[in-house]
Amino acid sequence: MNTPLLSPRDILRRVFGYEAFRGPQQAIIEHVVAGGDALVLMPTGGGKSLCYQVPAIARQDAGQGTAIVVSPLIALMHDQVGALHEAGVEAAFLNSSLTGEEAAQVEKRLLRGELTLLYAAPERVTTPRFLAQIDALAERGQLALFAIDEAHCVSQWGHDFRPEYRALTVLHERYPGVPRIALTATADALTRADIVERLQLEQAQQFVSSFDRPNIRYTIVEKKDALSQLLRFIEREHAGEAGIVYCQSRKRVEDVAQSLSEAGIQALPYHAGLDSAIRQQNQNRFLREEGLVMVATIAFGMGIDKPDVRFVAHLDMPKNIEGYYQETGRAGRDGAAADAWMAYGLQDVVNQRRMIDESPAGEGFKQVMRGKLDALLALAEATDCRRVRLLGYFGEVYGASPPAAGPPQVGHDPLGGQRGHEVPSVGATCGNCDNCLHPPAVQDGSELARKFLSCIYRVQQASGISFGAGHMMDILRGKQTEKVAQYGHEQLSTFGIAKEAGESELRAVLRQLIAIGAVAVDGGMFNTLRLTDGSRAVLKGEVKVQLRESVATPMAKRSRRAGALAPAAQALGVDDQVRYINLKTWRADVAREHNLPAYVIFHDATLAEIARRRPQSLEDLQGISGIGAKKLEAYGADVLRVVADGA
Ligand code: ADP
Ligand code: ZN
Repeated sequence: MNTPLLSPRDILRRVFGYEAFRGPQQAIIEHVVAGGDALVLMPTGGGKSLCYQVPAIARQDAGQGTAIVVSPLIALMHDQVGALHEAGVEAAFLNSSLTGEEAAQVEKRLLRGELTLLYAAPERVTTPRFLAQIDALAERGQLALFAIDEAHCVSQWGHDFRPEYRALTVLHERYPGVPRIALTATADALTRADIVERLQLEQAQQFVSSFDRPNIRYTIVEKKDALSQLLRFIEREHAGEAGIVYCQSRKRVEDVAQSLSEAGIQALPYHAGLDSAIRQQNQNRFLREEGLVMVATIAFGMGIDKPDVRFVAHLDMPKNIEGYYQETGRAGRDGAAADAWMAYGLQDVVNQRRMIDESPAGEGFKQVMRGKLDALLALAEATDCRRVRLLGYFGEVYGASPPAAGPPQVGHDPLGGQRGHEVPSVGATCGNCDNCLHPPAVQDGSELARKFLSCIYRVQQASGISFGAGHMMDILRGKQTEKVAQYGHEQLSTFGIAKEAGESELRAVLRQLIAIGAVAVDGGMFNTLRLTDGSRAVLKGEVKVQLRESVATPMAKRSRRAGALAPAAQALGVDDQVRYINLKTWRADVAREHNLPAYVIFHDATLAEIARRRPQSLEDLQGISGIGAKKLEAYGADVLRVVADGA
């Protein structure tokens, strides 16, 4: 085997312009450069791309040929390959967006050995035509490695299941000597075990990073009037900044995008029902323009590598913690302060339960999905540190070193023992979530919970049918409604037994009861409530119900907002800010010319550092993070001119 001429560290500096590897990057890269297989679990923004890009460059440099990158993100391949070009790396992509002629061109370059990286969609990789081409490369020893990005797509437990991923085992079977690296930001034990099994990665070394995202602040508020809550949140905390708002349905996406626009916030819709050209256009605008809010279903976001998304808001609750974490993880990739904000209410609980109950899936699958939903409900209802719970769900103890990369356990508790109810480090605080910043007053809601359960029981007993939450709460509060009269429910012993309780308190109790599985919501038109096996423990006082006292939590006031200036630039003096803005204008022109997002040219932090250092020569520019050799050569002189002009 030829030894690479460039060490990984040289490549990091020269090609990408970065000083040091982050976290486990170096270990992963060395392992893969040496020909090992790897499974990389790293949170979004952790720096996964370099884990295969650097080995691809090193192995190409050592005469070992081309790296094939399997990625499901057709709409983003253009920008990813563009970013590599900017860094001076030969790369191309093959997917359905190319014409036959364009694809043939790429194939020619591939066979001539001109490419360091080839990005390809999974359905393309497993076609006989493509396999014949990689056969040809393999025969000449010119297959450097396979990188399987977004590897959780292979698992039905992941939230982006792509059946085409299942066929990727062919790579291992056909080219056993070629190293493979699979990467994902989804870390729950079940999905991880599934990835290993499905992709036959039993022999691969696992690299598990800490999943903590310290710069993200988690906030979960009780949903009252979700839209005005959202508006207030954006206006107070993120005016003029880029963000993503997740909604459950297409209709809601449209409505919310429109309402935000009417309120003067630049917002675009994104969902699978939109024409694909419009979808692509909205995505491009979000990536290329500044300060846009994308209102979207979960169809949006995988692989979006925009570094300066300052907030991710959920107007509706996601299905499970994996989804929540993945989606919120899209905020703050650049490491600067960012918010994950969610409004959550009883209706979310009911909707999510119903979607599971009514899905055509088998009972075993539904059971797993219910367990996952329960863990998210527990997180939403928590009165202690959200971060501790989130990380606990992924098997990580907050503040301790990341979980050992042992073999994943297959085949026992389908949730890998990671129920959100069990919090490993009780009492730990992160200082950067709502519960840590404004510890909520907690009251014992057990008595009220028992009253609620008794009421459900009495109603069922007296009427032979069950009712929904609204009617149940009317009975508890002793309200004389038409329905109460119609069914004679004022006769019940539970009529008016919770007169003193407010409606929001009763809702909170019910959410808790549903969250802990003591009440079930039956689907159909009326969402009727019924007792479960879990009710008994609450009735007997064996399980306590803790309630967050409904105090209006003050919005965290932050001084970090200086207009819509990126966090990177807020520490700059006035002169430097002028230079920074000039540099941004220049960057916008370049990006438009190259049809790429601005951050692919230079990150905000790089421009801010240039503005601060006021470089006079190319040497002065060298060593600024984010300026590699190719960018120095391509843009160095222009940057110096912009800096000098602004003086
Ligand atoms: P992921 O794919 O894990 O979500 P990326 O690969 O997109 O993350 O990396 C996130 C950001 O961090 C990118 O902007 C990338 O350029 C930057 N980055 C990654 N590794 C390093 C490093 N060693 N030094 C500086 N910046 C890095
Ligand atoms: Zn906290």
